[in-house]
Amino acid sequence: MPSSGQRPLLLRLPNWLGDLVQALPVVESAAAEASSRGVLFLGPSSLAPLLTPRFPSITYLHWSRARRFASLGEIRRLKPGAALLLTDSLSSALLAALAGIPERIGYDAELRGGLLTRRVKRSFPARSAPRAEEYAVLARAAGLRVDGAVPRIAALPWEREAAESLLRRVGIEGEPYAVLAPGASYGPAKRWDPARFAEVAAYLDARHSLASVLVGTREDVGPAQAVEWIAGECVVNLVGATDLKALVGVLASAEIVISNDSGAMHLAAALGTPTVGLFGSTSPVWTSATAPWVRSLYAAYPCSPCFRRSCPIGYGCLKALEPVPAIRAAAELLERSAAPVHERD
Ligand code: SF4
Repeated sequence: MPSSGQRPLLLRLPNWLGDLVQALPVVESAAAEASSRGVLFLGPSSLAPLLTPRFPSITYLHWSRARRFASLGEIRRLKPGAALLLTDSLSSALLAALAGIPERIGYDAELRGGLLTRRVKRSFPARSAPRAEEYAVLARAAGLRVDGAVPRIAALPWEREAAESLLRRVGIEGEPYAVLAPGASYGPAKRWDPARFAEVAAYLDARHSLASVLVGTREDVGPAQAVEWIAGECVVNLVGATDLKALVGVLASAEIVISNDSGAMHLAAALGTPTVGLFGSTSPVWTSATAPWVRSLYAAYPCSPCFRRSCPIGYGCLKALEPVPAIRAAAELLERSAAPVHERD
């Protein structure tokens, strides 16, 4: 670990659920330091329910732009000796510097090099290697031991109970179901056509007798309503109704998850649920989950990945992703999970 006596380590968490899931091996490694030195998590309130029950001894400091001065005061009072910044932003380095944290470790990005005391240079261009590995490299530079970069998480009993209670209210009690996540807070360049999600839902209903549960945040209400309108009774719309606790439970108990490149996709994969991820403007090299139970579909459209939130030329990368490969991938994963464990790849 970096020097600075036994003063706590501040881990600045990513702001997005998907990124936090990809950073889980680093989070676990940092938390393991808690017995020898204090560890503080700094991240958005919306992500706290994923970490606070799993790491009850770690202080979670709630960060938002609106309360940045309050965060500054809290950090100063707790006197961390080092800050490991999993975000690339100038503002996160500035906050650590203003808080008087003597060691500030992060990627040399966004013109913030002068604010870092340990500037980690990427040995590969940004967004060209798996993000989980990017986080692991950063953590190792800070002296943390990160053995693997594959994020894994298990659902907690009360997360499963929250999901069961919610599903019971919409008529799903003990029956197998699929999950579709047709939204993406990032923007429309990550959102597959609702009509295609509806086609997948119709297939899952007809061939596997699976109802499709729609999940997402309140921002995803529009795409979800479109799927519901087209697919009809074979979908159950829970978009906006699942808090993070219930979302974990719903994803963990699903037979299969079909999702845009989003937090739901990463969470489902980390939970070990068979997952089909759909990529438009983003890169499966950078942000796909890698596990035998995950399939990432990407059309390799000539201008992709562009990482745009919306598309100026008509979303060809998403339109090139037909429903048939998604249906085939879902069928293959369902067959795989029905096979005895020793016969799976
Ligand atoms: S510019 Fe190309 S890669 Fe980017 S969103 Fe549009 S079609 Fe997709």
